[in-house]
Amino acid sequence: MKYSDLNIEVGKSFNIFYLVIYSSVVFIVINSVFYTLKSHIIFFQLFANAVLLLTTLYLIYITQKHSTNKSGFYYYTSIGFSFVFYGLFIITLDTVFVYPKEVVNISSKMLFVCGYSLLAIGVTKWIRYNENRQDELSYQANTDELTGILNRRSFTKYIEHAFKNAKIRSEPFSLIIIDIDFFKDINDTYGHMVGDEILKSLSQLMESSFRTTDKVCRWGGEEFAILLPSTGMNNANNVAEKIRKKVENSSHQVKEKSISYTISLGVSESLAIDETIDKIINRADKALYKAKDSGRNCVKAIRT
Ligand code: GH3
Ligand code: MG
Ligand code: MG
Repeated sequence: MKYSDLNIEVGKSFNIFYLVIYSSVVFIVINSVFYTLKSHIIFFQLFANAVLLLTTLYLIYITQKHSTNKSGFYYYTSIGFSFVFYGLFIITLDTVFVYPKEVVNISSKMLFVCGYSLLAIGVTKWIRYNENRQDELSYQANTDELTGILNRRSFTKYIEHAFKNAKIRSEPFSLIIIDIDFFKDINDTYGHMVGDEILKSLSQLMESSFRTTDKVCRWGGEEFAILLPSTGMNNANNVAEKIRKKVENSSHQVKEKSISYTISLGVSESLAIDETIDKIINRADKALYKAKDSGRNCVKAIRT
């Protein structure tokens, strides 16, 4: 079920809370006309019921107050609590007025059945809504908004994980940092929107070019990073060269124009002496600068 499927708009004009209060007053008036008062009122029972009524009324109030929230949860729960309220109300009135037993039993139970069924639907919707919201929030927190690939924050967690694994299993991993060459010129010539489209298409190209265990992220601006778990530098260099060629030979179509661009890549590998992941990131960064200094559109690596 999609998040949007759970949305139910409830108009503010229909206020269940006031409806419950008004109908309760009407109910009391009708009872005073048709039924006689009991000679002995059990005050403890009356007090206990009054507390239950007030707490249920409060629950109707708070669920109704938030009914503009689109989860559907508040809508079902406020009506569910209203049914429960009426059921309790009949039982409470029974302590004051002389009622036929069957009326109290049947009507209160029917109201409770309806009320609790609606509450069950409401709570289910609330749980689903929260699950979807949780998924949505975690997606937003871990994904780059423009390209839809991992952002730097979540990517760093993957590097840390690979770093721990590398220490435990003595299995190195590699890191590639990629920067689009002369991207400013592309923006200046074709506009920022075209620049954005290129960032998106490059992200897709990279996502489809690497193994599922490799992680691709938007490092920032027009820079990307790739984590290659259980991969040594030689293999990482080959992978980097492959993607460099792929980008060089591809073009981005905008209306009738086709835009070509290149990338520079810096590669590093985790070493046993590395104390933190920053060392590995710094080497990849330095390698990228080297690639830029060497005329761009190339792969450079720093081993130590
Ligand atoms: P170099 O080859 O040295 O990397 O040159 P460059 O022009 O790519 O590098 P520079 O750092 O001068 O410019 C990077 C540009 O990337 C500038 C900035 O406006 C652009 N940029 C960063 N983020 C985005 C984005 O999200 N969308 C677009 N369209 N452009 C972006
Ligand atoms: Mg840059
Ligand atoms: Mg650049």
